[in-house]
Formats: sequence, C-alpha cells, structure tokens
Amino acid sequence: MTPFKEQEMTKVGFIGLGNMGLPMAKNLQAAGFEVVGFDLSDTARNGAEADGIDVVTTAVGAAENADIVITMLPNGDIAKSVAEELLSIMPAGRLLIDSSTIDVASARDIHSLARTSGMLCLDAPVSGGVGGASAGTLTFMVGGSAEAFDAGRSSLDIMGQKSVFCGDGGAGQAAKICNNMLLGISMIGACEAFALAEKLGLDQASLFDVVSTSSGSCWSVNTYCPVPGVGPQSPADNNYLPGFAASLMLKDLNLAMNAASAAGATTTMGAEATALYKKMNELGQGEQDFSAMINLLGKLT
Ligand code: NAD
Repeated sequence: MTPFKEQEMTKVGFIGLGNMGLPMAKNLQAAGFEVVGFDLSDTARNGAEADGIDVVTTAVGAAENADIVITMLPNGDIAKSVAEELLSIMPAGRLLIDSSTIDVASARDIHSLARTSGMLCLDAPVSGGVGGASAGTLTFMVGGSAEAFDAGRSSLDIMGQKSVFCGDGGAGQAAKICNNMLLGISMIGACEAFALAEKLGLDQASLFDVVSTSSGSCWSVNTYCPVPGVGPQSPADNNYLPGFAASLMLKDLNLAMNAASAAGATTTMGAEATALYKKMNELGQGEQDFSAMINLLGKLT
C-alpha cells in the first residue's frame, strides 16, 4: 500500500459495500480518506457501520459531498443506473470510479454520461479477489482519460498494489474480461492435464514438478494448482472454498462471450470454457472455487 499523501481529493463516497467494496472502503479510511458509504442492503450497511464506516441511506447521500465516488456493484445495469442517479447531482470536475466487473458497452455508456456532466470517469475493474481487497493488493485495470487517471491514482494506490492504465473508456473492462477468459481456459487446461496424468498412472506431484518449470507453466498450475496437496497452498487445499467462485468465473466468461460476439472475434476455447463453467453452476457448484472444475472433469471421483 502506498502511504496516503496530502491531496485535494480526499472525500470518497463508496457505493456497494459487499465482499469487495467494504474492505476497499476500509483501506481508504485507514489511509486517511473521509469515507461515506452506501449499500442497498441493510445487512451490508450494518456490517460496514460495525466496521467503522459512516453509512447513509441513499446513494445520493454518499455522493453529494464526495470528491471521488467509487462504485463496486454486481453488474452493468446496476452500475449504469447508479451512475445516472449520481451524475445528475455531482458538481462538474468530480471523479467517478467504477470498479465493478461489467460489460464494456455499459462502461462506455457511463463514460459518456460522465462526459456530458463534466465529470472525470474511470472504469477500473480489479483482479485479486476478496483477499486482495482486504490486503490492499488489488490490481486495477484502468480505462479513461489521463487526467482522470491522475486524479484517481492516489486512491487506487491505496486499494491496490498496481494500476495498469489500459487506454480510453472501457479499456479496463476489456482487459479484465480478456484476462479472465484466458484464466478460465488455462484452469480447465490444468485440470485436464492432471486428470489425464492420473489416468496414466503418473504421480500428481511429479507432474507439478515438471509443468511448473516447463513450457506448460502458468498461474493456474504454478500458483493455484487445482490438486490438493500439490504446489503452493490453494483453494484445493481448503476443500475448494473460494478463492474465486465458479459463479463469478461464469459471469466474466459470459461478459467475454458477449463482447466477442459484438466485436466479431473468434473465441472458440472461451466458448468451451463458458459451457463447462455453466455446467458446473447448473450442478449447484457455483459457490465452489473455480479450480473445483477438476472434480467435474472426473479427476477426483
Ligand atoms: P457482492 O454481491 O458481495 O457486493 C455487491 C454489493 O452491491 C452488495 O452488497 C449489494 O447489496 C450492493 N448493491 C446492489 N445494488 C446496489 C445499488 N443499486 N446501490 C447500492 N448497492 C447495491 O459482490 P462482490 O463480490 O463485492 O463483487 C462486486 C464486484 O466486483 C462485481 O462486479 C464482481 O464481479 C467484482 N469482482 C469480484 C471479485 C470477488 O472475488 N468477489 C473479484 C473481482 C471482481
């Protein structure tokens, strides 16, 4: 975490105090920002209040005196409707950062609404999950103007360890879904390799030793091996508790498939990965970590 520096934009309205939003808001407050939070859910608001965050009962209440509004919401329709509500009351020159994972088209719509209201705007989805949100080690993938990135930089540096400026509005969401499509595909590849090894009578730890130092090495094997007791500690060693839930992987793959179809891109493996994660969710395994795909593939049965 970068230490907080004296700067102009110190008042934050934080909207969406769920699994990700609350720890992000807490890190900002701990670093000296004045945070006012809002969530639609009473449970989330009460939880945030118990954790020392000032909460109010409307989104407008959280945003009206804020220099920066950060949203961490479930999907593009919600993020867009909250942005519409807030941009009508926020003075020009303030900054809206949407860190939710949403579709590229909605992200671009939010940028366009912000431009019309004279607001600065960033789409800044994250990688790193709840652990990264709590530890302040998220990676932000950021789209927007250079001016908006400069204005948001100090807050992003507190919530994360790295912010990659990816380009114009929507570029952060585009980077996020491309990364997560690759992750979904590579995890299934890792699961298939370990499942095949078992059928061939090859010791799983031996395969890990080979792959993790060979051309098949990748994050899904080296850091997040789907086989219990093999490689560094991962959700496989914790009964596949997430981690990163299979339902969230399916959400991101669906976003990637919709974007691919709109852009006319060929994503054959992405489509296969989407179908497999859809099946996992249909079987009621959506709340397991996405590496539990290995069980669906028959590895541990
Ligand atoms: P969550 O469901 O825990 O939190 C979302 C919160 O938004 C909830 O508390 C909900 O009550 C609130 N909300 C819904 N509609 C609202 C509205 N109109 N106004 C105010 N609050 C509203 O979800 P999360 O896990 O915190 O994820 C948030 C976003 O981050 C999602 O877009 C998700 O895809 C993304 N993300 C999650 C993870 C993860 O590991 N959980 C990792 C990376 C990205």
